[in-house]
Amino acid sequence: MKTASFALFGAKPAFDKPLLIGQLYFPSWERYETAFRGIFERQYYNNNGPLHEELEEKLQQFLGVKHAICVSNATYGLMMVADAMELSGKVILPSFSFAASAQSLSWAGLEPVFCDIDPDTHQIAIDQISALIDGGVSGIMGVNLWGGACNPKAIADLAASNGIQLYFDSADAFGCTVDGVRIGNFGRAEVFSFDATKILSATEGGCICTNDDDLAARLRSIRPSYGADKPVNIVRVVNARMSEAQAAIALMSLEDFPANQKNNEALYRLYEAQLNAIPGLHLVRPSGVDFSNYQYLVCRLDEHEFGLPRDLLIEILRAENVVARRYCYPGMHRSIPYAQELPQYLDQLPNTDSLCASCIQFPIGALVSAQDVERICSILDRAHQASAEIHARYEK
Ligand SMILES: *Cc1c(COP(=O)(O)O)cnc(C)c1O
Repeated sequence: MKTASFALFGAKPAFDKPLLIGQLYFPSWERYETAFRGIFERQYYNNNGPLHEELEEKLQQFLGVKHAICVSNATYGLMMVADAMELSGKVILPSFSFAASAQSLSWAGLEPVFCDIDPDTHQIAIDQISALIDGGVSGIMGVNLWGGACNPKAIADLAASNGIQLYFDSADAFGCTVDGVRIGNFGRAEVFSFDATKILSATEGGCICTNDDDLAARLRSIRPSYGADKPVNIVRVVNARMSEAQAAIALMSLEDFPANQKNNEALYRLYEAQLNAIPGLHLVRPSGVDFSNYQYLVCRLDEHEFGLPRDLLIEILRAENVVARRYCYPGMHRSIPYAQELPQYLDQLPNTDSLCASCIQFPIGALVSAQDVERICSILDRAHQASAEIHARYEK
């Protein structure tokens, strides 16, 4: 029986413990100790401490951007930008993104306008944006997805010619470059996530980048540093500060970015070589960048070529302790509350719907080894070879 070797049917799992998706980078214990001893000696935890200041400066240098404003996570960052840019009414964004992209608009009192995506790059379909622009639209939120970019220059031209604002959710794109320019420099602002699963980790955190002094001042006063800055005339504040402990970890992670990027790229190449030989698993290349962080490893699964439906493959892998995932599922336009509140998008986004049904993410990051990739690809290959038997046995 070809199926006997699968954990789904009772065999021993290929991995002893779950192999998760995400960067999940842990510096050596000695480095934590040194960094946290400093915090202990200074007895200073938050509110623009020395590590926080050092992190903002180093991010500005690394990204070549005038202002890097650290925040407690990217979701707050996106909410703050929407507020600081004084957006009103509606904002266009791709439906194929992490829920926080649209949720940040709702929190800022704005209505999302969902745009479809390009079926090859999975980035926002630029040729469909114009048709969505009307008098109620005040801005575009580009999303630089999956270590790639959504052609920020072309979107900037489009926004400028329509007199609307532009910013980016760049949570997936830290360190990537477009024509030699680091992401972080496009639009009026860009927001990065330093969540533990992202390539730059503060365990939880993020940063807003802008080259606009006025916007930076507004953002700094929305993220208050009580007592330190002179109050600016901003109605709403949200405590979105990053602590010294988070900044300490982000500084170590920034120092190790080159090594982590190289490791991810090497794993990506391994996946690429091995997946090539498996029918139906089409690797998504980071699009629109000349340097990628390879933060995610994403495939589109062609069910007929591969022989098994995506969700069954995920079950097979999970039984082996490989935590493969659907991403952005089922698409923001199909999730609560948007499916009920904005039903007009339900039949408007065929490329998003088709990708949501076929997209699968595999582990990549600091905790994944070359051997792990080989083992994962061997499971995938065996699953393809045994697809008919798996089907038959699973349906019993
Ligand atoms: C991770 C992610 C976010 C959310 O980041 P947080 O720091 O967890 O708030 C937003 N958008 C995209 C595209 C992401 O991948």
